Parts: sequence; structure tokens; C-alpha cells
Amino acid sequence: MRALEEKIVKEGLVLDGNVLKVGSFLNQMVDTSLAQEMAQEVVRLYKGVPVNKVVTIEASGIAIGFAVAAAMGVPLVFVKKSHASNVSGNVLTARIHSYTHSTDYTATVSADYITKDDCVLIVDDFLANGEALRGLIEIIRSAGATLAGCAVQIEKGFQGGGDQLRSEGVRVESLAIIEKMSVEEGITFRR
Ligand code: 5GP
Repeated sequence: MRALEEKIVKEGLVLDGNVLKVGSFLNQMVDTSLAQEMAQEVVRLYKGVPVNKVVTIEASGIAIGFAVAAAMGVPLVFVKKSHASNVSGNVLTARIHSYTHSTDYTATVSADYITKDDCVLIVDDFLANGEALRGLIEIIRSAGATLAGCAVQIEKGFQGGGDQLRSEGVRVESLAIIEKMSVEEGITFRR
């Protein structure tokens, strides 16, 4: 998506350790009109697919997850990164390795909110090695729900997580795919 790529080039900051900082429009301050444009693009990509729920993971996925769910007219479910006391009863869980924090956590959601009757679209902000998406896919499969696919705002293609998932038959749509990125040379997108 051209508008997103332009915003990444203008405001994104490449940090050491292959991390792209996009706090000014995506991770801390949210450009709400760009988020709505991105949501419309996801709606276009998944047109004709009977998605009835959007699933994301707290915290950074919630903004775009909400925008996509609202544009589709379906509920948003966000999976929690810890087993909070307000998640009670039967729960679905998956262990996920956090790329940005270098730790493992147990993603948890009430089994009431994702069921075998659901056709789920996973939405997240970033795709790097694919650990977060894999954890969400595991949760959706353990619920017996149908996975429509995934939609992410920024995929770091050079880390390979997205292509690995695609090779396993998972539909992964990314609104911008970074092919190369370095502090010295900046950002190159996949075409
Ligand atoms: P993965 O699980 O695919 O390795 O990493 C995806 C998760 O790590 C995303 O949910 C996102 O929060 C975080 N992440 C990975 N790479 C980056 C990055 O370059 N910048 C930011 N802001 N978050 C990232």
C-alpha cells in the first residue's frame, strides 16, 4: 500500500537489531485516517471470505484490529499476553516468543470468544519471524475455528516468517513488505 510505504519512509526509524520504530503513526500515536485506509484495503483483500471475527493480540494489534473489525462489521477479540484474573473459565492458550522483548509468554483468551463456528481473520501490526501469528493460529485451531487468513500492516520479509507461513498454505496479506532495511541504507520494499 503506497500511502503506508510513504509514511514508513518519512517517519520510520531503523534501529539496531532489525527493529523498525513506527511510534509516530502506528505503535504509540495512531494515524487514525491511515488506519481506516489500511482497514479498507484489508476489507478489499478479503472480499467474499465469510469472516465473522477478527482476532489480534494486545497491545499493538488492537488499533488496526479494531479498524479492520469495524470496517467488516464484526467483533474484535484480542488475545491477552498474560493470564489475567478477568479471563476466567475455559481458556485457550499458546506459548509465544516475543521478538521485541526476547522473552516467552503465554497468550490467553477465553474459549467463549473463539469457537468452532467462527471464521477468523488474524490481524497484527508487524510480522517478523512469525511467532505471534503462529501462536494465534494455534489458538484458533485449538478452538476448532476456521482460519480465513492473516493481515498485517508491516512485514519484515527478510526475516522469513511470512513466506514460511505462506509455504504452509496460510493466507498472509501484508500491506507493506520490507525486503531490506539498515541504519545506513534505509528501507527497500518488496515489489
Ligand atoms: P514475530 O512474532 O513475527 O517474530 O514478531 C511480530 C511481533 O513482534 C509483532 O506483534 C510486533 O509487536 C513485534 N515486532 C517485531 N518486529 C518489530 C519491529 O521491527 N518493530 C516493531 N515496532 N515491532 C516489531
